[in-house]
Amino acid sequence: MRKPLIAGNWKMNTNRADAVALAKGVAAGAGELDGVDLLVCPPAVYLSVVGEALAGSAVALGAQNAYFEDNGAYTGETSMAMLADIGAEYVILGHSERRHVLGETDSDVSKKARKALELGIAPIVCVGELLEEREAGRTGEVIKSQFVGSLDGVTEADIPSVVIAYEPVWAIGTGKVATPEQAEEVHADLRRLLAERYTGEIAGAVRILYGGSMKPGNAAELLSQPNVDGGLIGGASLKADDFLAIAKAG
Ligand code: PEP
Repeated sequence: MRKPLIAGNWKMNTNRADAVALAKGVAAGAGELDGVDLLVCPPAVYLSVVGEALAGSAVALGAQNAYFEDNGAYTGETSMAMLADIGAEYVILGHSERRHVLGETDSDVSKKARKALELGIAPIVCVGELLEEREAGRTGEVIKSQFVGSLDGVTEADIPSVVIAYEPVWAIGTGKVATPEQAEEVHADLRRLLAERYTGEIAGAVRILYGGSMKPGNAAELLSQPNVDGGLIGGASLKADDFLAIAKAG
């Protein structure tokens, strides 16, 4: 059985004091939650202080991105080894803001995913279509192409550690949410792709999260879909109460 994962993507928000307070708020509520994994992904510069704030709690620490090289002349980048060093257990990869604002490609995502897996960090690999792609009936094709490209070289041994996040780009930060049926359709397609590429057993074990304007008010319906195994939450993860309410709905 897949244990739901509720992950908060804080994006480029908070400051040091707010990040610590938010982490402590989530950690304080986490004790009441059974049967769900909780994760927060603060900005890179606050990973260490948030990690300290979470110490002893059931909340995991993740990053929003990292580079695939171990070290060297890559000004401005953070390596997966550095993430491992400060205790990060997850890394979000291929978020639509990185793909569409910062030009990240499937090939970049797959290199980063393989490096994260090599170092014991679980990649959360995001895929999702643009509104014009959905309107042109191209959602399935876009998702398949991102799935294949972003997981290139990820082996059968490693794929169970990967989390996939379906994040329709038109639903991220817009207040527009996919209907539970729209989400379930893509999640079921992703699970089929996993079964074709790996095995049915593996496909049944990999968690597939939904992301895109998930809030306390719409979470229960989305999370009740058979192939929706949790959420990647942006805006609503910046308030501990809202984030915990989503986790309770799962
Ligand atoms: C996200 O950033 O991954 C996201 C889903 O954002 P929001 O919940 O704000 O739409």
